[in-house]
Amino acid sequence: MSGWNLFYGIINFVILAAGLYFIGRKLVANAIRAHRDKVSGDLEQAAASRVQAKELLDGLESEKARGAAEREEILRQARQNAEEIGRAAAEQDRMAAGQISQDAHKELRRLVHHQRIERNRQAGEEITAAAAELIARPENAAGRARMTETFIARLPERLQLTAGDLSAIRSRGALKVRISSSEDLAEEDLGRIRAAVDALLGAAGEEPEILLESEKKPELIGGMRLQIGDTVYDGSAAGLLERTRKQLASFDSTDEELIGALREQLKRQNQDPEVYQIGTVISVSDGICRVSGVSDAMAGELLEMKGGLRGMVMDLEQDNVGVVLLGNYDSLQEGHWVRRTGRITEVPVGSALIGRVVDALGNPLDGAGELNTHHTRPIESPAPGVIDRKSVSVPMQTGIKAIDALVPIGRGQRELIIGDRQTGKTAIALDTIINQKGKDMICIYVAIGQKESTVAGVVEKLREHGAMDYTIVVCASASESAPMLYIAPYAGAAMGEYFMYQGRDVLIVYDDLSKQAVAYREISLLLHRPPGREAYPGDVFYLHSRLLERAARLSPEAGGGSMTALPIIETQAGDISAYIPTNVISITDGQIFLETDLFNAGVRPAVNVGLSVSRVGGSAQLGAMKQVAGRLRMDLAQYRELAAFAQFGSDLDKTTRATLHRGDRMTELLKQPQYSPMAAADQVVSIWAVNEGYADRVELKDVARFEKGLLSFVHERLPRLDDIIHTGKKLDEGQLKALRRVVEEYAESFE
Ligand code: ATP
Ligand code: MG
Repeated sequence: MSGWNLFYGIINFVILAAGLYFIGRKLVANAIRAHRDKVSGDLEQAAASRVQAKELLDGLESEKARGAAEREEILRQARQNAEEIGRAAAEQDRMAAGQISQDAHKELRRLVHHQRIERNRQAGEEITAAAAELIARPENAAGRARMTETFIARLPERLQLTAGDLSAIRSRGALKVRISSSEDLAEEDLGRIRAAVDALLGAAGEEPEILLESEKKPELIGGMRLQIGDTVYDGSAAGLLERTRKQLASFDSTDEELIGALREQLKRQNQDPEVYQIGTVISVSDGICRVSGVSDAMAGELLEMKGGLRGMVMDLEQDNVGVVLLGNYDSLQEGHWVRRTGRITEVPVGSALIGRVVDALGNPLDGAGELNTHHTRPIESPAPGVIDRKSVSVPMQTGIKAIDALVPIGRGQRELIIGDRQTGKTAIALDTIINQKGKDMICIYVAIGQKESTVAGVVEKLREHGAMDYTIVVCASASESAPMLYIAPYAGAAMGEYFMYQGRDVLIVYDDLSKQAVAYREISLLLHRPPGREAYPGDVFYLHSRLLERAARLSPEAGGGSMTALPIIETQAGDISAYIPTNVISITDGQIFLETDLFNAGVRPAVNVGLSVSRVGGSAQLGAMKQVAGRLRMDLAQYRELAAFAQFGSDLDKTTRATLHRGDRMTELLKQPQYSPMAAADQVVSIWAVNEGYADRVELKDVARFEKGLLSFVHERLPRLDDIIHTGKKLDEGQLKALRRVVEEYAESFE
């Protein structure tokens, strides 16, 4: 073994030395030069002051912290330069002193991060290339042979048969064993491998015919690779270096961490072969492929393919699996290899995603650099059970009068927003997100099958209203393949669950699930699953039920957070009895039904009060709101009846006229422009005032003005009212009396 250790000692040393060399000199020098350029540009532009120069210095200093003498020298120079620039800038404009350029600092940090990743990727490539060249040298033949020898010697303890292998052996009666090695193998070695395989089969009580193939593959560089059935045992130098390269490519680290990780990696992998399962593409079309092999693949597992393409297992057949392709599959062909990852499809999660726009696999789309998180979560996971849940009792204010008063939503509730196209569905969801500002709520907006320009508009609006500070946008746009649209809501749910189980409150909007259902129908038809009603597959109900069941309010023992879901469904010509709408209506805790006629008549948000309900939100409504809005639903229903009737005749009795008169004003009051959510207390005051008839003398066109004036008047006179209403208690006699006095005074003076 000493020859072996020496050999690896040399390789490791060379690799580490190469690493230090690359990192220590060229790359860091580049990185720092880039920082410096950037910094000086920023400085000149902003005509920033000494303060800035010091900030930037700090940034440079953190880079400086470690490394060889050479790097020290470069850094010292960089510092000098920065100082000079800073001094010059300060002289140029002393007046601007004190204006700290936070942006410049942030930009610097982002740059450092980018540079590190890029540097590590480059270093990884150069290091592995250098090591490959070294191992392949003729004088290292003994070392290579040693690699093979170690691999074979350890084989008996490493080999194992998986359930998939066994069932493949039983159904075929034969087992393929493929041996590839960088050098020609001796007869004796072949015999030992064969013996190990025989022993393995013997232990499992199987006696298949063994089809042994052996070939020489110089591209393995050193060592060998053994494939038994679908399982590959990779003990080759090429495999080892490839793994190392991949790991370094995504590494965000300082130099020491990088070298340490490299050392760890080499130590671990010198000893153990990598074991994975592979398969072969047997057909590919329309974003779907069939793969033979991968006999232990799990439903929902992520598969890797040639060229970095990834796919998700959807169908498990006896001798192949159906895979949906997540990404551009133009270059995928029959016969290409496929490799199992052993992991269910997952997405990055964590606070690093807040403020970001990502795709359905969690890849950033906003050009703001890599996500700085190492946490992931499978996109599908079981919903919390009955025991883990608590009933809904805390309000989730939308800030929209017609909704908070009539269809109140509680944290952990699932409330459907349903309506034809262009009826203001997205508008309600966005206003709700904007209204969560300062309410310690994390919002997730999942855009499914929308135009990219529309989503960009949404992000722009959220940013404008400061809502991106607590919002994640997941976007699977119309141009993406059906599988991405299909998984996007689950990905969003996984991101939300992470926070929910940490005790945070989350609001998630799925805009919209009709498009997801269509994407799923497309996938199902391509997978040749039998079509059912409206050509949707039989399990389309489960598509939405398993998604929406993940929204919950958790008991304190289970984490104590909540996830409120606002799924959106688009109807055709107001038909809420179609297949998908009825499904989702039956899954959710209520729906907000938006109507085209109302929308066109100028009633916006176009909430149809009669057909909208909230089945659990009532218990989460603020006491004062419940108090004033209690009879609103009945009053409005009565008003609508009478209004329809009144179209036929003109001589109406006095009470009817009064009901119509007040109903008109209430309807007017419930109109609300976009992007202007209202605080709960304000809603209570305006609804109460109109309900009590204080607006009866006001012209319809003046209702909005009346409301505005009323609110500022009340705020001035009753500054504590907000707090009182936010306690969640009903207003008592004394409080109502005080309110009445103030509103009366305002109403009398209004003109
Ligand atoms: P789509 O079916 O295309 O997704 P949608 O139902 O989501 O449409 P929105 O995009 O929200 O509808 O709104 C449609 C139009 O109505 C937009 O131009 C929006 O600005 C306008 N709108 C929505 N709500 C209001 C409102 N309360 N007041 C005024 N205009 C509104
Ligand atoms: Mg929309």
